[in-house]
Amino acid sequence: MAPDPAAAAPLISAVQVSRTFTVRGASGRRKLQAVDGVSLAVGRAETVAVVGESGSGKSTLGRMFLDLLAPTAGRIEFEGVDISRMTRAQWRRYRREVQVVFQDTGSSLNPRRSIGSSVSLPLLHNLGMRPAAARRRAGELLDMVGLRSETFLDRSPLQLSGGQRQRVAIARAMASNPSFVVADEAVSALDVSVRSQVLRVMRDLQRDQGVSFLFITHDLGVVRAVADRVVVMYLGQVVESGSADAVLDSPAHPYTKALLAAAPRPDPTVRAQQRSRLTGEIPSPIAPPPGCRFHTRCPLAQPICREQVPPVVRFDDGLASACHFAGDVRSGVLAMPAAATGIGTTGEAG
Ligand code: ADP
Ligand code: MG
Repeated sequence: MAPDPAAAAPLISAVQVSRTFTVRGASGRRKLQAVDGVSLAVGRAETVAVVGESGSGKSTLGRMFLDLLAPTAGRIEFEGVDISRMTRAQWRRYRREVQVVFQDTGSSLNPRRSIGSSVSLPLLHNLGMRPAAARRRAGELLDMVGLRSETFLDRSPLQLSGGQRQRVAIARAMASNPSFVVADEAVSALDVSVRSQVLRVMRDLQRDQGVSFLFITHDLGVVRAVADRVVVMYLGQVVESGSADAVLDSPAHPYTKALLAAAPRPDPTVRAQQRSRLTGEIPSPIAPPPGCRFHTRCPLAQPICREQVPPVVRFDDGLASACHFAGDVRSGVLAMPAAATGIGTTGEAG
């Protein structure tokens, strides 16, 4: 069958988006480049994970996808249309189709409203449903995220655990039948077992409703469970991207390797192994290092890394890596030292 061009077109994409903030410091007003020329596309029923340390620009990127923040350069396109140039009707549709779940959004639930009433609100106001129909739909949404409606519709948010509140937040986000949900550290505050329940809810929603996720997290440990593709950010830029298998199992960027080495591993067979973890502060985005931005912490840095911005190296399997030595790192010709400048080691006893 001939490939369907519409099926291949992304649902939503960032096209060379940048965002600067003006910040006041001791030396006056300065520009901080939080996101710098990022391009990223999300297909239908796809989960793209955006990973990187705190301060790498992930939330700023997510807020631009949500139109909570305008890009200073570049654009966000929903179904091929620049969201800043939409007609009123197009924008209203985009607002319904694009939703968000933040970290512990559940705590923003009004304690004086029942769960059912909180989930019904967008149905009443945004979809114009009648109260009885909205309550029925709210019940279905709660069942969908694994909270039995008979039990939970009339409960107060004060009676819920953190994981249950986060599932209510997901139900509320799903109320308008979105095609795209930004989940910004949505499971980061949850403990491990609750976290995997919530991740399962998200996977089921994707399978049953065809929703796409932009899954933002600083924790690489959860990415394998959800992501089809992974985008790694460092100081506002994408340093590596590709399929989840390529990025997590055979990355070519030293930053991704260091992040993976530092991530907690559930696999007991690697427990005895030495782990290297990233040390040193992430530099300030007010004055990013020249050349490769990661060179100040990279154990493999050479003189060229300080001087020249690395080209993006594209591998046959789709992995794209912005490193001067990507080919040699991926093939293993250049190995990451366990203990080296910028990377410290901890011998894990188990
Ligand atoms: P992440 O989500 O990856 O931790 P953020 O997008 O929150 O990163 O932040 C990226 C950079 O932008 C950080 O240096 C942060 O301090 C800065 N930043 C974010 N929002 C603002 C803002 N409203 N004003 C000034 N600086 C900001
Ligand atoms: Mg963030």
